Amino acid sequence: MRRIPFKPTKLNMQVTDADSMAKLFGSSGVRGLANIDLTPLLANKVALAVATYAEAKKAVVARDTRLSGQMLENALVSGLVACGSDVLLAGMVPTPVLAYAVKAFGADVGFMLTASHNPPQYNGIKVFSNTSLSFTDAEQDTVEELVAQEKFALANWRRVGKTTTIDASQLYLGMVQKAVLLQKPWQVVVDPGCGAAFELAPRMLKMLGCKVTALNAQADGYFPARKSEPTAESLQDLAKIVKVLGADIGIAFDGDADRVAFVDEDGGFVNFDRSLAAYGALALKRSGGGVIVTNVEASMCVETMAEKFGGKVVRTKVGDIYISEAIKREGAVFGGEPCGAWVHPQHHFCPDGPLSAALFLSALEEEGKSVSEFISEVPEYITLRENIPCKNEFKYRVVKELEATLKTAFPRFTGFSTVDGVRLALKEGWLLVRASGTEPLIRLTVEGESEVAAKDITAKATALLHKQVEVHQK
Ligand code: MG
Repeated sequence: MRRIPFKPTKLNMQVTDADSMAKLFGSSGVRGLANIDLTPLLANKVALAVATYAEAKKAVVARDTRLSGQMLENALVSGLVACGSDVLLAGMVPTPVLAYAVKAFGADVGFMLTASHNPPQYNGIKVFSNTSLSFTDAEQDTVEELVAQEKFALANWRRVGKTTTIDASQLYLGMVQKAVLLQKPWQVVVDPGCGAAFELAPRMLKMLGCKVTALNAQADGYFPARKSEPTAESLQDLAKIVKVLGADIGIAFDGDADRVAFVDEDGGFVNFDRSLAAYGALALKRSGGGVIVTNVEASMCVETMAEKFGGKVVRTKVGDIYISEAIKREGAVFGGEPCGAWVHPQHHFCPDGPLSAALFLSALEEEGKSVSEFISEVPEYITLRENIPCKNEFKYRVVKELEATLKTAFPRFTGFSTVDGVRLALKEGWLLVRASGTEPLIRLTVEGESEVAAKDITAKATALLHKQVEVHQK
């Protein structure tokens, strides 16, 4: 397909592999600084283009708690009704609630206004199809082309759309209630971080019979309490409160709650790779084997755990859409990225923080384990990361050239993949070389069974990388 580059402003530029051509859509939709990159004008054009492309008769629109959300929503809705699409307004709800609503209300498309875990001055538009999958690269390219050409199918004045407010949360909670039945009154501390799950997550946990303490459970687009990205550092308050209250678990979400993070009963932040591997193993155990999906950056502990239950791991590029697509294609039982974005295909195809939290509690109950006991089943490997400076104009070429170099340097490799950068599986670990999407860097990630193994692989790969970069830098 011919790709017409959209004229970028500053930060919405997504650098592609071939050159520095900027794209409107990245792997997480349109993303940028509100009113600088992402203006109401752009939101309006995206809505007009999507409605034109999808011939949308019905659309669902939701937003997270960012201050620019309402402004962008108005522009978006205006574009949709102009194309004759009726719009269901879901208000401030998590991204997975929106995705589920698109499917459940029989809409043609859904729009989530969110910049996920990014700082408050950002916003974004994520587009979902009627299967609850976010738009694929090909669909986004078509929309981008329509935006660039301003080819919009405006409706006759008699046929412009109408707007209606809906309670998508109620519908979503009905789905959770059918999926999860808890016996134990779990003592839970939940931290929505003033983001999109501010109301829904405490409500869901109470509905499931948990004893809930909620913090940062008010909508606040400044994210005053903590960064919207859940990390060990940003969840320190949650960890302390779990410990002080003697709670069973701490649960946190990112800004739009498509990601979940856990704190164990001792106040320890649960490593994302290990919780993914532990839950993935349980999904395989339940189904008696099958496929689980993760990305190229996830720890090999996912494979270690999957193998215990006769499961197979399929690895994709980094980006939740690739996980969802692979799950659908492979008929996988579960999938996720090691940032807490987990997909449960039995319910829908969007990463879902609140549903993951409910299913995680159900898993603990099924196994009769505390959080730390459940996670301790998963081996802990050593991960090392190096950034090697490399000019943008040849960073992708260097990575390509390394395919052959790395194979020669590590002749006893057990797996090789170029699905995203170059990934080599070795007997005692693995390595991944990727060009940074935004910076003049090549990123090396290494994991080893032991520290010695990880350091050996890193030293060897780093030397090769520097050598290859020098060839071009001369
Ligand atoms: Mg997110």
